[in-house]
Amino acid sequence: MAFTGLELTPKKVEYLKCIAGKGDVVKTSELATALGVDPSTVTKTLQELEEIGLIAREPYHGVVLTPYGREYGEFILRRHRILGLILSHYGLSDEEACQEASRMECYASREAIDKMCRAMGHPTVGICGKITHGPLCMGDD
Ligand SMILES: [Zn+2]
Ligand SMILES: [Zn+2]
Repeated sequence: MAFTGLELTPKKVEYLKCIAGKGDVVKTSELATALGVDPSTVTKTLQELEEIGLIAREPYHGVVLTPYGREYGEFILRRHRILGLILSHYGLSDEEACQEASRMECYASREAIDKMCRAMGHPTVGICGKITHGPLCMGDD
């Protein structure tokens, strides 16, 4: 499914990044702890993510990404880490770059990130984790 990278609110980006970073089935309680919020708040946002087709909820287990959610989630991680690399290149410490990237990332479009990714030669190591590349940025647009 095509997406611009600008569809999600900062909060949804935070959730999807967290789920995509863990991979596999993620428990609601695990998410609540990781995001530092109340489990009841988590349930509400998960419902919204399910409505837009990014996750599927598995009763008593937690949530898993749909194929669309996996693709979007991988993009979100890549966007975070590409921005992080750029910021760390221009004087920020890894920790500062990670925090700044988290603040600005939801406003960076997929088109811009894919272009920068190509220009940087598809780096595989980010400041806070590996960067995976797929048809989105490796394809010829
Ligand atoms: Zn980071
Ligand atoms: Zn790439």
